[in-house]
Amino acid sequence: MSDAKPIWIRDPLAILADGAGRGIVVKDGRIIELVPAGATPATADVAVFDASGHVVLPGLINTHHHFYQTLTRALPAAMDRELFPWLQALYPVWARMTPDTLELGVTVAMSELLLSGCTTTTDHHYVFPAGLEESVDIEVGVAKRLGVRVLLTRGSMNLSQRDGGLPPDSVVQDEDTILADSARVVAKHHQRGADAMVQIALAPCSPFSVTTSLMRATADLADKLDVRLHTHLAETEDENKFCQQMYGCRPLDYLEQCGWLNARTWLAHGIFFNADEMKRLGKARTTISHCACSNQLLASGCCPVCEMEEAGVDIGIGVDGSASNDGSNLMQEVRAAFLLQRARYGVTKVSHKDALRWATRGSAACVGRPELGEIAVGKAADLALFKLDELRFSGHGDPLAALVLCGAHRADRVMVAGNWAVVDGAIPGLDVPDLIRRHSAAARAMQAG
Ligand SMILES: [Zn+2]
Repeated sequence: MSDAKPIWIRDPLAILADGAGRGIVVKDGRIIELVPAGATPATADVAVFDASGHVVLPGLINTHHHFYQTLTRALPAAMDRELFPWLQALYPVWARMTPDTLELGVTVAMSELLLSGCTTTTDHHYVFPAGLEESVDIEVGVAKRLGVRVLLTRGSMNLSQRDGGLPPDSVVQDEDTILADSARVVAKHHQRGADAMVQIALAPCSPFSVTTSLMRATADLADKLDVRLHTHLAETEDENKFCQQMYGCRPLDYLEQCGWLNARTWLAHGIFFNADEMKRLGKARTTISHCACSNQLLASGCCPVCEMEEAGVDIGIGVDGSASNDGSNLMQEVRAAFLLQRARYGVTKVSHKDALRWATRGSAACVGRPELGEIAVGKAADLALFKLDELRFSGHGDPLAALVLCGAHRADRVMVAGNWAVVDGAIPGLDVPDLIRRHSAAARAMQAG
């Protein structure tokens, strides 16, 4: 227990919680009290934060990303291509990444996320060219500096073109190296328990870049180490064809054969599952990260989120890599998911509250953190506070709906584990113009080769 006073986040303009009309009290990284309308806190001796100009959300949780891709946004060589040719255009560029460029790319991605109201983020880092063996360690360092909660994945690729895979030799590693480093980063960085700030998961990249042997060995290792599993699945028709040709089955059958169809696993995309496969996912408690912007940009398709939820599958939200989004703004991603799914299912089936639920409670299920994604007593003090004083909100009715419908994209305050990580729309101590200058120079150098 610390000596810091409890903080009463008082009189929010609106709050995504029941029975908290006068706000909430947080202490030692947790929410300790909801204050109903007309009441005052039962907790004594509180410091007050006046939230009368703020809409308060549980901190948003990003369930899929590739931070390093901020270095290859809107790259002409990759634009206007579908997933496979898009990847083939980008692999050689990513192979030129250095530890310094990665650190800048990660800092930009995490900063964008924080400023958009994200308090917990995953990252799927699967490119390990020579010299970048400590990629996950670099990411951990940035997360600690910025104060964001993370579930970083030790990604991998070991099926190169030589063996019938998609990536070139320069970006793959062998199975022994991958497994040894996976065990190393878990032992070094993975924290357990409800207050964990840094966690590690294991994440072979996709069926078309990883061998069956590595998929199986990774599932065994995750079981042994008790960490989560992540991969891309059912993203495109090309992947369906690849699995049929290479493995003689559909992607979900392949996943099951590899020992992955269980509650430890969350999958990015999940667009091309049929009704029977959705039932199997629901029964197994495997969860899905819906990446609306990426799926639209690469014209991959549309994740059937309502059928998934009816089948018992929890849906989270992911911005996906900045080469296929091309941003890292989680609040904008909520709006994108809302619009895409409303277009698919109609106005009565999808509301702004559904989209906010996906990005909070649904995403918390994806990352295996039930203590996140909700404003309730005992849950983590991870909060995103938005002001509605910009031109885009002028004339609004319902403040919560306005966030999604009017296009909120910048949080005024963000709290992670009871600490303010964003204050007045900025990250304390972060020199943004300097970061942009250095990141842009690094990106240009990498793109030029
Ligand atoms: Zn991805």
